[in-house]
Amino acid sequence: TTAVDPFLPPSPGSQPQPQAPLSSLVARDISAWFGTHQVLDRVSLEMAAGEVTALIGPSGCGKSTFLRILNRMHELVPSAGLAGEVELDGEDIYERSRKLTDARKHIGMVFQKPNPFPAMSIYDNVVAGLKLTGVKAGKETKDELVQRCLTSAGLWNEVKDRLRSPGGGLSGGQQQRLCIARSLAVRPRVLLMDEPCSALDPTSTRVIEETIKELRQEVTIVIVTHNMQQAARVSQRCAFFLASQGTPGVIVEHGDTDAMFGEPRDQRTHDYVNGRF
Ligand code: ADP
Ligand code: MG
Repeated sequence: TTAVDPFLPPSPGSQPQPQAPLSSLVARDISAWFGTHQVLDRVSLEMAAGEVTALIGPSGCGKSTFLRILNRMHELVPSAGLAGEVELDGEDIYERSRKLTDARKHIGMVFQKPNPFPAMSIYDNVVAGLKLTGVKAGKETKDELVQRCLTSAGLWNEVKDRLRSPGGGLSGGQQQRLCIARSLAVRPRVLLMDEPCSALDPTSTRVIEETIKELRQEVTIVIVTHNMQQAARVSQRCAFFLASQGTPGVIVEHGDTDAMFGEPRDQRTHDYVNGRF
């Protein structure tokens, strides 16, 4: 190996592209209700810029609810109640003067079941990401946008010769990556993923994991997963949610992923990450 001389200018082509700084998201004392049923109790978590944060824990402990609070989808449920604060780069996303769609532009979401528009072309599915949030295309052309997003989602090489074929014709894993591409159209600052691989086969799952690892360079990611190996592989930080015997969900433990798996502080975390639950 040759050492890089720090005093020499970088060779052409090796210069990193200028990038917007990555964003961080802070949730403070989040409590949530459906009617009178409390499902989260004062949950606080910092999701740091440039990291993948994994939310783990048994079903029903409020992980999806927490995720939906992070981009203001929770309030679409008529019976929903909410207390606490969410800040994106220090700004309150729930501030009164802020429009609901504002949070969605900056904080994208990918769901468990891939949901591209099946009859729409691959190309138009990506472009639709702009329309969904009402964002105008910036300087880049539609062609550039489609190539950028499909490349970031790890799908470009597989579909570049059939951009006009319907999104519904792709495999499940490809459809999920198409949904990721669509959510990247608006250049979100944060990407929320709710069990994005739960409906996929192991091979597609690994491809999505590689995509997530690459995406961390351009967007801050929060992922809910039931797959402990996946959490260990893709995340730098981890939060363990638990709702015991009818009590609302809380975060039992959070921190560095390696520490959470290697030397958990709480016995319940230890049991959960080792499959004893
Ligand atoms: P998880 O994603 O960890 O499985 P959820 O956030 O989906 O947990 O659910 C947390 C709790 O909130 C559960 O008891 C669930 O039944 C309840 N819940 C979720 N969505 C709704 C809803 N739309 N209306 C009423 N209760 C709900
Ligand atoms: Mg869920």
